[in-house]
Formats: sequence, C-alpha cells, structure tokens
Amino acid sequence: MCGIFGITDNKDASRIGYVGLFTLQHRGQESAGIVTDDHGSLRHYAGMGLVNEVFNDDVLAQLDGRNAIGHIRYSTAGSSHIKNAQPLVLNSCLGVVAVAHNGNITNADALKAKLQKEGAIFQSSSDSEVILHLAARYRGRTLEDTLARNLPKLSGAYAFLFLAPGKVIGARDPYGYRPLVLGRLGKSYILASETCAIDVAGGKVLREIEPGEMVTISGGRLKSRRFAPAKKFTRCIFEQVYFARPDSVVAGRSVQTARYEIGAMLARELAGVKADLVSGVPDSGTVYALGYAKESGVPYQTVFMRNHYTGRSFIQPDQRLREFTAHLKLAPIRDVIKGKTIILIDDSLVRGTTSRKIVKNLKRAGAKKVIMAIASPAIISPCYFGIDTPTKAELIANRLSLDGIRRFIGADALHYLSLPSLVEACGGGRDRDFCVSCFTGKYTERI
Ligand code: AMP
Repeated sequence: MCGIFGITDNKDASRIGYVGLFTLQHRGQESAGIVTDDHGSLRHYAGMGLVNEVFNDDVLAQLDGRNAIGHIRYSTAGSSHIKNAQPLVLNSCLGVVAVAHNGNITNADALKAKLQKEGAIFQSSSDSEVILHLAARYRGRTLEDTLARNLPKLSGAYAFLFLAPGKVIGARDPYGYRPLVLGRLGKSYILASETCAIDVAGGKVLREIEPGEMVTISGGRLKSRRFAPAKKFTRCIFEQVYFARPDSVVAGRSVQTARYEIGAMLARELAGVKADLVSGVPDSGTVYALGYAKESGVPYQTVFMRNHYTGRSFIQPDQRLREFTAHLKLAPIRDVIKGKTIILIDDSLVRGTTSRKIVKNLKRAGAKKVIMAIASPAIISPCYFGIDTPTKAELIANRLSLDGIRRFIGADALHYLSLPSLVEACGGGRDRDFCVSCFTGKYTERI
C-alpha cells in the first residue's frame, strides 16, 4: 500500500497536502513526506512516523509553493528507513523531479541491475526510484514524453505522482491495480489514492485515472494522454476488503456499502447458523457485522473496545512490536460476551495470528462458542502488486485445511466468504474487474 496525494495551483498547497496525507494515514504509518514547487525550486520534507509526528506548523510554513505532492509509506519493497521515505527527489539531466509511488514494480530488480551496470547510482532501496533513472537515460522532448516512453518498461502495479517545476503529473499502470482518483478544489486539481482525501480537503471528486493514463496539470490546465493501451481494469479487491476507508468510493461503489453487502452475503452463506449475537473485529469488521445482522436478524453487539491510540498493529513492520501493540488494542466487553454464542467477523485471515488471539480473548471472557466468519476468501497466494502479504509458506490457508485453520485459531466454526459473493458485493460480477490473485493464485501478469 502507501498513500499519495497531490494538489496544484493553491496557495495552501503544503497544508492541504498535510490534510490529504492525514486522511490517508490508514494506508501506511511508517513515514510521511511532502515536496512543494516554490517557483521552480523543490522544497522537501520527510520523516519517519505518523503525518502529525512528521509535520508541524513551522515545517509546513517553510514548504512554500502552489503545487505539492505527498506520500505516506507502508514498506513493501525496500527496508524501513528514512532514505526510503518518499517523495524521492532526484536531480539529473531531466532537472529536478520528485516522485511518489504506490504499488510494486515487479521487474524493479532486473531494471535496477541493468541501470547500475550502466552507471546509475541509486539513493534508496525502494523500487520507486527506477522510473526516474530510466527517464534520465531515455529521454523525450518533454518530461511527459519521457515518462510516456519509460513507464511501459515497468511491470507490476503503480500509481505515480511526479512534481517538476511548473507541473504535477499522475500516472496509473495499464491494469489499474492501485487506486488513483482526480478531484477539483476551486481552481486546483487534486490527485489522491482515495476519494476520502479529496472530500476531507473540501474538494469534489471528478473521476478515476484510467489504466494506462497519464494526466499533466500545468498552468491550471489538465491534459490527459495514454502511455499504454489500457488492459482490462484489474483493481485490487483488497482495497474494498481492508485498505480503503469506508467513506471512500472504489470502482464507483461506496466502500461502506460494499462492506455492508459483504456482511449480508456472509449471512446468506451462513443461513441457518444459530447465534446470540454477531460482532466485528474493530474497526473494519464492524460494518460487515452490521450487514450480517440486518440480513440474518441476529442482533449486533460490540464485543471489543478498541483503543484508538495504538495505530494498526499489523502495520508495524517489526514482529515484536506487532505482538505488543495487538494486546493493547482490543479489550473484551465481558458482560456482552459471557455465555454467548458469537459470530465474529474479520476482514481477512492471513497468517491466522490475529484471529487466534481474538478467539482466545473471547473465550477467556466467557464466550460459549465462537463462529469465525471471514469477509473474504482464503488467501492462498502472495500479492506481488503492492499489498504486504507474507510468503506462500506463511499463509495459513496454504498450509492447513479449513478444519486445521479452525483448530489453529481455536474457533468452534470457521467460514470464508466465497469469491463470487465478494466480487458481486464489490460491484464486479466478472472476475477480471478486480485483481483476485491472492485468492486464486492466478496472476494477470507473469511474475
Ligand atoms: P493475520 O493475523 O496474519 O491472519 O492477519 C489478519 C489480520 O490483519 C486481519 O485482522 C486484517 O484486518 C489485517 N490485515 C490483513 N492484511 C493486512 C495487510 N496487508 N496489512 C495490514 N493488516 C492486514
């Protein structure tokens, strides 16, 4: 994942950039950065940590300029280090250019090795820098021409924002794996990973950037071009399942509505299962449980109090920290749980460690039975397109049978949503509207 946000032609560019990144914070908590264009000089500030830890009033005041791009990082490729914090700024024969990237370039290592052989010196270990080195080698008339020439050399998933003197450029890979939306705020244009960032910044959502499309905003005007023929839209379905904020719209569908519908689908698939209450693992599980309750008539109850000040536990790249924060995060509400048969919904099961802890927690608090319902199918294959999933061997659904997983997590029953139900609830209908390779092991591109 990662979140990107850009704004043009605005005297408060850095501050609106801050608002955008703050709204996208759920997409990554490792580092945050903003670059502004101050009359042709790029001003840059990035740091490790949350958006409101990295930036303060003084820093934002120094980021002068009417165009800005920003990034929040969740490491997928490259280690957790300040040198990988984006946007990256590179000075080359292209002039000074900043880049912010969400996604995963699957041929980055091969491209990097070739470029290094030719003399390129990389600043970071992230895959995002490759495009700028390619651009510096194989140039066109303008920066847009240069990018249009080089982007097709990249495989995998990307939503890019570039900032150069006088322009902001956005581009999305030919499959549209990773999200990028366009909005307007008065005379300003906004490019963002999610619509919620445009809404919160006070703007109006215009449309998604198309697969294989590049937009350039310069002199207050937007120009669009294709740098590659669009393949069939293959948006990552995990955006709806887990990543996107419920107030965002993905693929023309409100994420909240899609999740509510997924909950109802789960209820239909589990028709006849008796329980005293249905609940969700906060926060993302809650809306699924509400949809389930409406469809089934099983009452919704909150079984866990979530401490909102700990951040997302899984999002900490270090295993020790992850375990520590997980204990702080969810506290069972014993009075609701004691003696009850509970249907508990979580969005996904990856290694199984979260569900195992949660079920144990519920049992310790006196639950009679726990029926675990997962709002997505079993994850059997890693993601190569920007979602941080572990290796195939670490994926529990790859190692154990359904009953084996049930026993591992300690639940009395376990059910995964079927793939057709998920795709339908997300507004797809035809498999290929979405990338579902983590559930099928079948990839659109050769890896
Ligand atoms: P696990 O404990 O490995 O089974 O992970 C499943 C839990 O992590 C679920 O509660 C999800 O909400 C959450 N989750 C799933 N995928 C991711 C991801 N790529 N990054 C962060 N959290 C995730």
